Amino acid sequence: MTTVEQDTILRNVPVELFLGGSSRPASDGLRIPVYDPATGEEIACVASASVADGLAAVTAAHEAASGWAATAPRARSEILRRAFELMTGRAEELAALIVLENGKTLVDARAEVAYAAEFFRWYAEEAVRAGGTVQTAPSGANRILVLRKPIGVSVLVTPWNFPAAMATRKIGPALAAGCTVVLKPASETPLTALAIAQILTEAGVPAGVVNVLPSARSGPVVQAMLNDPRVRKLSFTGSTEVGRHLLAGAAKTVVSSSMELGGNAPFLVFDDADLDVAVDMAMVAKMRNGGEACTAANRFYVQRGVAAEFTARLTERMEAQKMGHGLDPGVSLGPLVNAASRDKVAQLVEATVALGASVVTGGTIVDGPGYFYPPTVLAEVPPGAPVLVEEIFGPVAPVAAFDDEAEAVAMANDSEYGLVSYVCTRDLGKGLRVAEAMDSGMVGLNRGVVSDPAAPFGGTKQSGLGREGGHDGLLEFTESQYIAVEW
Ligand code: NAP
Ligand code: MG
Repeated sequence: MTTVEQDTILRNVPVELFLGGSSRPASDGLRIPVYDPATGEEIACVASASVADGLAAVTAAHEAASGWAATAPRARSEILRRAFELMTGRAEELAALIVLENGKTLVDARAEVAYAAEFFRWYAEEAVRAGGTVQTAPSGANRILVLRKPIGVSVLVTPWNFPAAMATRKIGPALAAGCTVVLKPASETPLTALAIAQILTEAGVPAGVVNVLPSARSGPVVQAMLNDPRVRKLSFTGSTEVGRHLLAGAAKTVVSSSMELGGNAPFLVFDDADLDVAVDMAMVAKMRNGGEACTAANRFYVQRGVAAEFTARLTERMEAQKMGHGLDPGVSLGPLVNAASRDKVAQLVEATVALGASVVTGGTIVDGPGYFYPPTVLAEVPPGAPVLVEEIFGPVAPVAAFDDEAEAVAMANDSEYGLVSYVCTRDLGKGLRVAEAMDSGMVGLNRGVVSDPAAPFGGTKQSGLGREGGHDGLLEFTESQYIAVEW
């Protein structure tokens, strides 16, 4: 992509709050600069919502709520379907925009746009299948009728690592269920969310149904919305730390909460695994999005007999990565999103090496401009090392050996997180047995990617509450109403 094309994309992108169907600056005029993480340069400056704007958006969403809930499911479905078509038609522009504000490679950004658009297609299909049940009471005296009603005004808070997909994974099911929303995107990546609001408007979403409010004052703005009794749902994706805080904030008014939080995925390689498959799978599980994924393989546990060979093959592939600006041809690894993220990765590596782990490749910060950290492999990583306990969120693969299945399962489950686990083996019985023993919401069995709009995505333990995607994702935005009837 040439600079001229970049300029065109940035010139066309909306930079104001999207509230009640129109664009406007923040009530007090504050703005947030947006940077290209590959250069550190400012690329745009967006409006930063105030508490008053947050409450105005809740009013807009509340006023639009009954009309949207009463819109025929088929009509809601067709609007979502049009949003899918529009997003797919604009995939290249959106992908470039994601690269510019997030730093990921164009390959990853294109994959994200396709994945993000699929949530609109999937929930266009689900909108007409919300369902409900009817049964006879055990006493025989009456019928039990259960309706699924839209839960109401929903506050959606999303992270910067998948600026398009984390927004559509919430907006799709919310709109399908008949809810209106206020989305607060991450301050690092507000542009993609604003571009998606524009697409939804073109697709026919009425004013007030979708509001998008970037804000550098996320704490007070989100809390003010949660304190407002018109808000009935919080759907959050982000760190476990902020998730805990928001759960406490939602307790005040007992707001229904869905939480997609951090991960610390174990990646188990058994000695009977096809190492070609295992290494391909490891590269995807570790390096998709440059390691900045909640599903990223965070801890490689390899059976002792194949540990050296697996590490050598993984290292060869890691060293073949080309680091650079995500828009440059051939680049397979972009920068981390900001200086703080890069420094956190560097500190985790240093602390782990200080405990005795060895650096096989990488391991030192690359000079700027941009927030680059090289592909890194660490071997002989001791139990309890920080890199095994905390979410790395960068291109670092720590490897440790295990002796038998029981030890592998124990090591994998030894975490406060439980989002996803990966298992590589040619023995199907063992694969399924180990998969079932994983205390995680998802398992990749001989597969390095689990994300799919049709599947229930989510975690156990401190990785979250609830599921996104699939039919479960729709139900998160509904409330059951039971009617006892005698007929
Ligand atoms: P984060 O710091 O928790 O921020 C997530 C969102 O919450 C952002 O929009 C942020 O706004 C907002 N926020 C921060 N503090 C807040 C507060 N006190 N009150 C209300 N909102 C607040 O996470 P991140 O650094 O953007 O993203 C990385 C994390 O997301 C990782 O832990 C990753 O595992 C997790 N993640 C999980 C999933 C999943 O599905 N489980 C998917 C993707 C990412 P500002 O940007 O304005 O601070
Ligand atoms: Mg943040």
